[in-house]
Amino acid sequence: MSHSRFTFTLSLVSGLLISVALPTQANTDNSGAPIIIQGAMPVEAEHFAAKLDNVKEEHIGGWRFWKGTVDGYPVVVSETLKGMSNVAAATSIAALEFKPKAIINQGTAGGHDPALNVYDIVVGKYSVNLGAFKTPHKQPGEGSNSVEWKPMDLLASKGSAGEDKNAHSIRQFAADPQLLKAADQAVAGYQKGKVVSGVIGSADVWNSELDRIRFFHQQFNTSVEEMETASAAQIAAQFAIPFVGIRVLSNNITNNGKYDAQTGIACQDYVYDVLKAYIKDIKTAQK
Ligand code: SAH
Repeated sequence: MSHSRFTFTLSLVSGLLISVALPTQANTDNSGAPIIIQGAMPVEAEHFAAKLDNVKEEHIGGWRFWKGTVDGYPVVVSETLKGMSNVAAATSIAALEFKPKAIINQGTAGGHDPALNVYDIVVGKYSVNLGAFKTPHKQPGEGSNSVEWKPMDLLASKGSAGEDKNAHSIRQFAADPQLLKAADQAVAGYQKGKVVSGVIGSADVWNSELDRIRFFHQQFNTSVEEMETASAAQIAAQFAIPFVGIRVLSNNITNNGKYDAQTGIACQDYVYDVLKAYIKDIKTAQK
């Protein structure tokens, strides 16, 4: 365990200054910090909460958190509620309240890739916001065509030189390599489908237009869509908290994959194995 140090200075009557360095449990030492497991809906969170040892339920605002342990390591399951705003708020609350070591956002998603079937799992190497676009200018009566819209990077800054040159490329929220490694270690234990590395697209939209879905898949390489990961990833990045999104296909209209809510349970079982692998790595690194 690494102890960070802080220095304080004693000012003596004589005006002589002495600096003393003390070992402390400062905020930057998060070796005992919990891992947050997020799920939007009850069916995406309660099954995981039931797996925790020493569990205690806590309510903050309208959000439920279950604090407990897995293999003796602190873990908090967070029911984020659905959509980009709810998950952003739940992620901020978790960041401030629990000072987490890492965040795993998991749950159900709809397929954008015809090669993926219901029960397959996508480990998000990065996520993108599928709700931030700028439309072309059109006159009354010219209609609307969403595949003509350009992505808008809401984090691009507009300096004195004008618009950021990347303002219309899609922002990618990258996953943490150590969490990706743990996800990889758990693959062999998942029997209900395949586990692939891919791209998660998020927005407060349920897309069922196949041309629009194909556009997202071709332009931005999305494997699946859902309503939370990119938002949680953006907030986690602002707090410099390692993050990964892991999503099971509960539906895929690109290949007639019918909606199955039980996929949410399968995803939690896989993520539980990811969590155990991650905790094992943390413990090994601490030895
Ligand atoms: N049958 C559910 C529908 C959930 S709404 C119900 O009635 O409660 C959308 C939620 O499911 C979001 O949390 C989102 O992350 C996830 N989701 C699953 N498939 C999706 C899809 N094809 N498009 C968008 N969100 C999807």
